[in-house]
Amino acid sequence: MRKYLVIGNWKMNFGRSESVTFLDEFIPIFKKRSDVEVGIAPPFTSLSICAEKLHGSSILLGAQNCHWVESGAYTGEISAGMLKELGCSFAIVGHSERRQLFGESDEGVNKRAAALLAADLTPVVCVGETLEERESGEAFKVVTRQLELGLAGISPKLISRVVIAYEPVWAIGTGKTASASEAQEVHSHIRKVISRLGGDSISKEVRILYGGSVNDKNAASLLGEKDIDGALVGGASLVAQKFASIAGFRV
Ligand code: PEP
Repeated sequence: MRKYLVIGNWKMNFGRSESVTFLDEFIPIFKKRSDVEVGIAPPFTSLSICAEKLHGSSILLGAQNCHWVESGAYTGEISAGMLKELGCSFAIVGHSERRQLFGESDEGVNKRAAALLAADLTPVVCVGETLEERESGEAFKVVTRQLELGLAGISPKLISRVVIAYEPVWAIGTGKTASASEAQEVHSHIRKVISRLGGDSISKEVRILYGGSVNDKNAASLLGEKDIDGALVGGASLVAQKFASIAGFRV
């Protein structure tokens, strides 16, 4: 039985003091559900204060990226082991902003995912097509390529620990959400690709999150779909009331 997973991607928002303000508001109103895991992915510089604030809570802490090498001459980079030492249990990799603005490739996503698994952290691997790719009928092809290359060489056993986030690029930060059925169609395709890469039973274990303008109004309908196992939330995760309501969604 897959547990829902709802993650807030704070992007480059909330330094240490704003993180504290957010968590002071969020923690008391957040209602834990036994069938939903909830996580936040603050900027690197806020991870340690968030780890302190989340001590003793069930809320998971994660990062927004990582490098694949353990240590060395990689100015500006952070390794999976460093994230683990800070109390992270997951990291987002291959977010479309990383791919589009910082030139990250499928091969880099693959190395990052493998490094996280080796450090016993969960990679949240983002995939998704641009508007142009969707309009030219290539959404499935793009997502298939991102999954095949992003998970290349990862054993089926380890694939079961990966989380996939389907984030159509045209829906990120735009207020345009894929309809529940449009999202379900791609999620079902993703599960088929995972089944081909890791086997049928593994594909049933892998959680596939939807991301792209998820808010407190549309979360329940999206998460009501058979293959949508949670949400990766950007903008709405910065508002404590909204994020609490998404995390406590009722289908
Ligand atoms: C994201 O960037 O992961 C995201 C889904 O953003 P938003 O919810 O703001 O569209």
